[in-house]
Amino acid sequence: MALISVDEALERVLAGIRRLPAEKTPLHEAAGRVLAAKLSALRTQPPFDVSAMDGYAVQAADIATVPAILSVIGEAAAGRRFSGRVRPGEAVRIFTGAPVPEGADTILIQENARPMEAGRIEAITSVVLGRHIRSAGTDFHNGDILLDDGRVLDPAALSLMAAAGHSHLPVVGRPLVAIIATGDELVPPGIEPGADQIVASNSYGVAALAKQDGANILDLGIVPDRHESISDAVRAALAASADIIVTLGGVSVGDHDLVQDVLQAEGMELAFWKIAMRPGKPLMFGKLNSARVLGLPGNPVSSLVCAHLFLRPMVARLSGRLYAPDIRSATLARPMKANGERRDYVRATVVQQQNDLLATPFDVQDSSMLTTLAAANALILREPQAPAADAGARCQVLMLR
Ligand code: AMP
Ligand code: MG
Repeated sequence: MALISVDEALERVLAGIRRLPAEKTPLHEAAGRVLAAKLSALRTQPPFDVSAMDGYAVQAADIATVPAILSVIGEAAAGRRFSGRVRPGEAVRIFTGAPVPEGADTILIQENARPMEAGRIEAITSVVLGRHIRSAGTDFHNGDILLDDGRVLDPAALSLMAAAGHSHLPVVGRPLVAIIATGDELVPPGIEPGADQIVASNSYGVAALAKQDGANILDLGIVPDRHESISDAVRAALAASADIIVTLGGVSVGDHDLVQDVLQAEGMELAFWKIAMRPGKPLMFGKLNSARVLGLPGNPVSSLVCAHLFLRPMVARLSGRLYAPDIRSATLARPMKANGERRDYVRATVVQQQNDLLATPFDVQDSSMLTTLAAANALILREPQAPAADAGARCQVLMLR
């Protein structure tokens, strides 16, 4: 199969992926989820005219000329209304959040009232009619549409839904991403590797990326390079109804790279294998029943860079999120060599300099080196056949963090 471009690969990966069906979630678990319907208010806010200040509920006409003396006939506090009526010459002591009593039309703040003996006050300023009263429905009315379908539930959206009377919200389901690491040489972190073994690292970064975009993770651990072991893990992923099965390693051309064979024997329809990018050339993608299978290369940097480019958009699409990679324009701090036939994703540090971004590529770009990936905050994009570039030339960078 010929190498296909990154853009074409992404198009094939995303083809036909729709957001998952809605599920109901309690408000306290809804942070960061994606709303699966338009939501309207179940009540009016505030539900009654309410005082916005501490002071006195009065009739504005009574204090049109000041000083004016009023008798205080009772008190209204938040949660405890004054049940009587304010008549000319009268005031009710009122606190923020209290319902405005009948007959009152204005709040005189307490700083502008001087208490006198015998339950009276002296108003020392006049007040515009209606001042400091939040009338019923100032924020929203019952039935108003408050949030759109697809809204990510950020803190303000959650408080608004609570105020509007929703205890549960319809949200887009979370995609399940099953991760299978393959390799006879791998042991989990915390276990002393035997002779010829290394610590498996890829699952952790890949899982973290997928979670960041809202996925649940089923980590199926490490399986040896044996046909049956890999197929058992794939079947476990299918049995768990994984939306995406990510395999790590075993998709290259070596004798022990069995992943593609196993998946095809299980019935996977291969969409592509090998793409024109570096790192990550042996990326594989296909469909197996209702699951999508993303075969990431084993080299740690390749697996994470490919996860950024392909897994994140898949998870985002399934979760109902917009996904736009953060690609910016920058100035090269150092010259770069002419590029070959693959699109190159070059680990770099990008810093702000005056009104520009300055991108410095790392010298060594070995796809096994996690130190440079962790030190990089961006990848410089180099198109296939890009000519050599001098320091000072413009470049495109994909921000990683
Ligand atoms: P493979 O694609 O299986 O040929 O693996 C390519 C390289 O990546 C080999 O050096 C593997 O040891 C290494 N590798 C494969 N899987 C992992 C993993 N999960 N964590 C760290 N390194 C891995
Ligand atoms: Mg391997």
